[in-house]
Order: sequence, then C-alpha cells, then structure tokens
Amino acid sequence: MAGVRLVGVWKQFGSFTAVKDLTLEVRDGEFLVLLGPSGCGKTTTLRMIAGLEEPTKGQIYIGDKLVADPEKGVFVPPKDRDIAMVFQSYALYPHMTVYENIAFPLKLRKVPKQEIDKRVREVAEMLGLTELLNRKPRELSGGQRQRVALGRAIVRRPQVFLMDEPLSNLDAKLRVKMRAELKKLQKQLGVTTIYVTHDQVEAMTMGDRIAVMNQGVLQQVGTPEEVYEKPANTFVAGFIGSPPMNFLDATITEDGFLDFGEFRLKLLPDQFEVLQDYVGKEVIFGIRPEDIYDALFAQVKIPGENMARGVVDIIENLGGEKIVHISIGGLIVTAKFPGESRVKEGDEIDIVFDMKKIHIFNKKTGKAIL
Ligand code: ATP
Repeated sequence: MAGVRLVGVWKQFGSFTAVKDLTLEVRDGEFLVLLGPSGCGKTTTLRMIAGLEEPTKGQIYIGDKLVADPEKGVFVPPKDRDIAMVFQSYALYPHMTVYENIAFPLKLRKVPKQEIDKRVREVAEMLGLTELLNRKPRELSGGQRQRVALGRAIVRRPQVFLMDEPLSNLDAKLRVKMRAELKKLQKQLGVTTIYVTHDQVEAMTMGDRIAVMNQGVLQQVGTPEEVYEKPANTFVAGFIGSPPMNFLDATITEDGFLDFGEFRLKLLPDQFEVLQDYVGKEVIFGIRPEDIYDALFAQVKIPGENMARGVVDIIENLGGEKIVHISIGGLIVTAKFPGESRVKEGDEIDIVFDMKKIHIFNKKTGKAIL
C-alpha cells in the first residue's frame, strides 16, 4: 500500500488555471475526500493522480515513486501507477455477467484462471454479490451495479483507489446505505482512497480527512470535526454545514462588544484578548444555526450580552427540527430549533447566541481570526 503526495502541483488548460499550487499529502490507508463546488478542480486533481492528465508543474508521488514531474520529464502512464478508479458512470460490460465483469481486469493481466476464480469469489462475498454472479448488468439494481463496479476496482488489489462521485447516480436512500458500506469496506481493505464529491454530507460521513477546494485552490485540510468546528476561512465555514453558517458584519468596540448596529454581543474575555488589534474595525462574525437558541430553552441568558430580540420571519419544518429565519431590525439570522419548538411566523422572540461557538473572520481576507 502507499500514500499519495502532491507537491506544488499546477494544471493549466490554455490560459485557465484549474489547479493552483496544490500541496497535499494523503496518508497510507487514509480515506481522503476532495470536496468543493462544481468546477473547483477536484476531478482534474484526481485525473492527474490517475495519470489521465499531466500536471503543468509540480510533482506527484504514489508511495515513494515519482509518477509525474514535467520539469524532469517524468510521466508514468495510468496502467503502471497501480491505482483503480471508480467513476460516477460505472461502465459495466453489458454482455458480460457480474462474474466476468469483476474478473475482467485480472484476465487482462493474465492472472491464472484458478487465482481469478478465488479472488472474484472473495470480492463477491465481501460485497454481497455472490448470489448475483451469473446475472447480466441489466438484471441488477443501481446499487448492485455500483457494487460490481467497486468489485472490479477492488479485485486488482491496487495501492490506491480513486473515486469520482461514485454514488451520485443512486437514489438518496441507496446512497446513504452505500456510503456506510463503502466506508466499511475501505477500512477493511485499508487501501488509500481519494474520493471526490461536492456533497458535504458525504464528505463529513466518509472522510478520515477532508480537503476543501475552491477555484483551484486548496482551502483547508482536516478531519471532519476540524473543518466543521475550526473552518480556516469564510469559504470553508459557509460551504460546510446545513443550513449554512450565519455571517454578519460587526465592529469590535473598545469595551469588548461586537456591534451589529441593531444589537450587540459581548465577547468572552479570551476572545476579546485575541481581537485586540481589531478594536474599532469591522470583522465578519459567524455562527452556526444550531448555536442560536430560543431564549425560553437557553441555559445562560444575559440580556445585553448574548441575546437579541427579533421577529420570526419564515419557518421551515423538517419534522425533527425547525429552521427558523429571524429578522432583527434589518438583519436576518437563521437558527435551528428543536422540532417541539412552538414558535410561529410573526412571533416576537428572544434569541440567545452561544458565545463559546462564535467565529470571527478578517473582513478583507476572509481568514479565521477566532
Ligand atoms: P465538477 O464537480 O463539476 O466535476 P470539478 O471540481 O471536478 O467540478 P474539474 O472537472 O476539475 O472541476 O474542472 C475544473 C475547471 O477546469 C473547470 O472550470 C473546467 O471547466 C476546467 N477544465 C477541466 N478540464 C478541462 C479541459 N480539458 N480543458 C479546458 N478546461 C478544462
């Protein structure tokens, strides 16, 4: 097995830069998710690791082996990289049975027949496909087909799996099931996996670590907890979490408050300490909807310090929880209240901000200060 390392990797398509100076280390056996919006360069990155694209600049290593470095004229073709790819559109051979589809990569490599049989059956067992080995792809459900595609990747025992939105063609329920199955399988096999998705829930539930990209630039790499709790900038903060984090402009006052014009919140002493250089300046305040409470149910309520009064604008009832949009003068904040909350549209309510959970970003750079 092997880790994957990218060092200062760039990819230009003509004058367009799809990937900018990407340095990223994927550890041996790790499940790393490349996450970002459409067009951010995730697929291009994966294709460069696979050898389907050549970087314009930089080095790519699989294990200790340098597989791409345009400056040195090194470019190892895909077939010699010992990787297996699973795509969104998993083209199975329609005229072949499940058995033959899974066996195909081994046959290509002239693996002896007996060994092929042993490995195909092993993989089929692992993926719950044993009963389906004689079927043709058209006789399978979407999820079963996807498992065959996975089987075909696994059977080769590659050093690295590269997956590009492999679950996006499945319906929502099946996707959730396959997410868990795929994660379990990866742990069982211990094969380094790089998984591309634009779906933050997939990233949060599957990744050992998440690498967040935007406009060709790596924004942050960290565990799901790290990127959620300590986002490096406003992009990561806004991209991860649903509904997204609230952002409000605020000025830091001399007496240690965040002044929003319509209301004020008192910073905790250690927060104010860190923000000394920003006194009198504007910053971006961020708080997640789940960290804003209905005052009726809040533990720590200090009027004038962690509270505001607003009017309930719109409620989205999700059953288990309610997404409540509240206007405070001209400002709007979104809160996530428990399903049993009885607030109604038009109600005037007091809300409490959990000051331990707030984020402060530099207004110019978007970088996290707190
Ligand atoms: P998606 O989730 O939509 O697949 P992505 O993050 O995977 O997006 P990429 O496919 O890596 O994005 O594309 C990054 C950018 O590079 C896009 O703006 C795309 O249009 C551009 N791009 C990709 N391949 C080429 C190419 N062969 N020629 C020119 N531009 C390209």
